[in-house]
Parts: sequence; C-alpha cells; structure tokens
Amino acid sequence: MLHIILFGPPGSGKGTQASNLVECYGLAHISTGDLFRAETSARTPLGLQALEYMSKGQLVPDEVTINMLKKKLESMVNVKGVIYDGFPRTTAQAEALDKMLSEQNEQINALVALDVPDDEIVRRILKRGESSGRTDDGDESIIRKRMEEYRHKTSDVFDYYNSQSKAYKVNGMGSIDDIFIAMQNIIDPIAS
Ligand code: AMP
Repeated sequence: MLHIILFGPPGSGKGTQASNLVECYGLAHISTGDLFRAETSARTPLGLQALEYMSKGQLVPDEVTINMLKKKLESMVNVKGVIYDGFPRTTAQAEALDKMLSEQNEQINALVALDVPDDEIVRRILKRGESSGRTDDGDESIIRKRMEEYRHKTSDVFDYYNSQSKAYKVNGMGSIDDIFIAMQNIIDPIAS
C-alpha cells in the first residue's frame, strides 16, 4: 500500500492537490480537518470539543485527533493506499501514525510539502473564506494563529520524516497543473 502525507501550511493547496492524487493513483483520502468539520456539523460530542479549538485557530489536542484518525483508518478496507491531508500536525501524531502503520506492516512512503510564502497564504485563505463558509477562513487573526501553530508545532513533522529520508518539497506557487506534475515526479518512482 502507498501512504503519502500531503504537507504544508493552511491554504497551501493541499485539498486541491489531494483530489488530483486520489484521481491519479486511486488512493483513499483522509483529511482530519474535513473529519472534524463533519463531526462539528453533526454536533457530536467530538465535534463540539474540536470546535473549541478550531474556532480559535488552535490545534485540536493530539489524543483526540489520533483516536479519530485511528478509527477512520480501521474503517477503510480494500484501499490501495492513503493520502493524509492535514495529518500529522505534530511530532506526537507522526510517531503515533508510524506506530499504527508498522503494526500493519505498513509505512509512510513519502511526505510531500507544498512551499508557499506567508503573505500568499493569508491572501488565499481570505479568498477561500468568501465561498467556503468556514468561519476560521474569514478572520485574519484566526488565520495568523493557524500559521503560528503551523510554525511552532507542525513544521517539525517535516524534519521528523526528513530524518527518515522521506520528505520532499515542492514549490506551491505555480499553476495547479505544474504543481501536480512536480508531485508526480516525486511519487511515480515511489509508487512503481
Ligand atoms: P484544516 O482543514 O486541515 O485546515 O483544519 C482545520 C482545523 O481543524 C485546524 O485549524 C485545527 O483546529 C483542526 N485540525 C485539523 N487537523 C488537525 C490535526 N491533525 N491536529 C490537530 N488539529 C487539527
């Protein structure tokens, strides 16, 4: 099975490229942000707990996030592989994911990071907020908080997989097609 982490700050284009990867490689897609939003809309206890953090631009605690991801992974059968979008976001989550996969004799094959400068991130998220209906996309102070969380807690995940020689960077500033081609150039040799 192929296990690819799609990595990058909020607004770097992970969701868009995840759809391309799903279509091209026939992989399942797990977005922890989407899972939390589904729980929040359904007003489940997990959703209401997550909302307390999401509405402030903070990360949901590791234990809650890891348990949700574990359940989602266990519910997937007969998949060729998985694209992880928005997970792992801390080193503890990365360690937990590696452990879950190694128990199934599986492993992360690659982390592909989309590189986008901060100002462009804010511009893109505010634009997305005009149509996404996401309250965390419409407020610049929440966006800045999400970027701060990324810098302080999430960027270490790149180094974690880099030390396993599995981390790759792609320039996230080109056209959607060009970025996807750059990603394919990384993933094709790993997938074959
Ligand atoms: P996203 O859609 O990936 O930008 O996620 C939206 C929000 O959901 C984040 O700002 C966090 O509050 C929460 N979230 C999503 N994924 C995670 C994760 N792996 N760890 C902690 N919080 C997360």
